[in-house]
Amino acid sequence: MAEIENSAVAEKNLNFLEEIIEKDLSSGKHQSIMTRFPPEPNGYLHIGHAKSICLNFGLAKKYGGKTNLRFDDTNPVKEDTEYVDSIKEDIKWLGFEWANEFYASDYFDQLYEWAEELIKKGYAYVDDQTQEEIRLGRGSVSQPGTESPYRNRSVEENLEIFRNMKAGVYPDGSKVLRAKIDMAHPNMLFRDPLMYRIIHADHHRTGSKWCIYPMYDYAHGQCDSIEHITHSVCTLEFDVHRPLYEWFIEKLGIFPSHQYEFARLNLTYTVMSKRKLLELVRNNFVEGWDDPRMPTICGIRHRGYTPEAVRMFAEKVGVAKRDNIIDLSLLEWCLRQDLNVRSNRYMAVLNPVKLVVDNYPEGQVEYFKAPLNPADADGTKRKIPFAKEILIEREDFMEDAPKKYFRLKPDGEVRLKYSYIVKFASLVKDEQGNITEIQCTYDPSSKPGNGEWRSVKGTIHWVAKDYCEKIEARIYDHLFTEEQMGSIPEGVDYKEYLNPDSLVIKEGFAEPDLVSDNSGITVQFERTGYFFKDPKTGAYNKATGLKDSFKI
Ligand code: ATP
Ligand code: MG
Repeated sequence: MAEIENSAVAEKNLNFLEEIIEKDLSSGKHQSIMTRFPPEPNGYLHIGHAKSICLNFGLAKKYGGKTNLRFDDTNPVKEDTEYVDSIKEDIKWLGFEWANEFYASDYFDQLYEWAEELIKKGYAYVDDQTQEEIRLGRGSVSQPGTESPYRNRSVEENLEIFRNMKAGVYPDGSKVLRAKIDMAHPNMLFRDPLMYRIIHADHHRTGSKWCIYPMYDYAHGQCDSIEHITHSVCTLEFDVHRPLYEWFIEKLGIFPSHQYEFARLNLTYTVMSKRKLLELVRNNFVEGWDDPRMPTICGIRHRGYTPEAVRMFAEKVGVAKRDNIIDLSLLEWCLRQDLNVRSNRYMAVLNPVKLVVDNYPEGQVEYFKAPLNPADADGTKRKIPFAKEILIEREDFMEDAPKKYFRLKPDGEVRLKYSYIVKFASLVKDEQGNITEIQCTYDPSSKPGNGEWRSVKGTIHWVAKDYCEKIEARIYDHLFTEEQMGSIPEGVDYKEYLNPDSLVIKEGFAEPDLVSDNSGITVQFERTGYFFKDPKTGAYNKATGLKDSFKI
């Protein structure tokens, strides 16, 4: 029977969370499922969070359940509404809708009541030890801890002091509320974990109402329980917290939410901790959270990523049980998959050299038509002006060209994409020997649609020098030079690996219709790459190149 079940699961190709959910639904343990995404509003979301969002919202969607957005705002010192707003914007951009918007702070009253309940049941006490004394008293993995001298206070005394803590009688750090479990427990988290600490600071939602704030371990499971979260999915480092999550729920006898862990997403050539990203922003190593080099969701949005590509990426990465590092080029591959089908094409020259067509009449302009998107050949056309003076990429001409070079070379021929074939004639150079102009002749009979199609080996992109638009192109490279940022040696500052060439700004020239592109998504500069017009700067940000380095 077990075998049959397993093969059914294998056939459906379910990840381990889907397996659990299908079992819970078919056994009747749950009628429907409820998940949540619980960000702490202390920074902008990054691609790791995107993975978590796609997973939590994706699971609920797949099984007809719902997902709450719950801000884990239990630390007033680090949190801000700026972050709340950006988080909501990012989730919407990814294409997900939450059933409810909740805040851990919505539950402060309930959490406080439960804390009193635990005190009354003899499961919690107020400790007056200093932070250092508490730390030392915990013992170590190989040594049991020692009990606090305040551990055996009476219920009445604990209640009175705890109420005074809430009333603001004591200064920060003078007392904490601890769960009374076992100072010799093999899981260090069970050695009387902290439940509340005193912080006299205004909270972004509750203002000055509270001066005691719950710790993560005391708050998270109970918040899940209040919302009847059936499957509380978090990252692997929380697996040691799971027994404590269950302990509080059990002692309070409340809705039994369960926690499941999956591996964090790590990416090559970048860092993904909010602390480090904040440091990059604060020290102006990047232009802000939304700098296109940042692995933040708003960063890659400005880079030209699409929600479709990010969701595809999350799907391809899958759900692992062991930590791993994903190749950044997989993310790029997903973007290309999406844009290759959807993005409009234009020509733009980013490193121009002048090409003069000697036998083309001075002052004449003609327009060639080309599809905006080759996948829709009958769809909207763009009009590309052609005239005597053209700009091509410097790289598309080579004076001493090897045999296999099929672009323009002395005595060679090349087709200017969508228009004529031109033949090299001569070169003009400046005193330093730099090429300033290439002269050529065109073959009028090679006009597309004009009788028989003559093919030549090379086709290059171009724009008409006096009929084009000047653009700023921002060419981005990896933010860090090191592939495995997670394994840089201890004691070495990760900022030493910042890539000094991660941004190169170029002046480019594009065909005129680019300006009126209203597709809203990243366009393709033919033969060059995908570029996104950044609404913030007006520049064209290079999202990614055209070629894959990733083998799938
Ligand atoms: P960071 O370590 O970057 O500061 P965090 O875990 O503190 O992130 P939270 O706001 O607490 O950030 O995270 C919200 C949710 O996103 C959590 O459930 C967390 O497990 C998940 N998450 C955070 N980082 C990743 C990641 N790299 N991969 C997958 N999920 C992640
Ligand atoms: Mg966190």
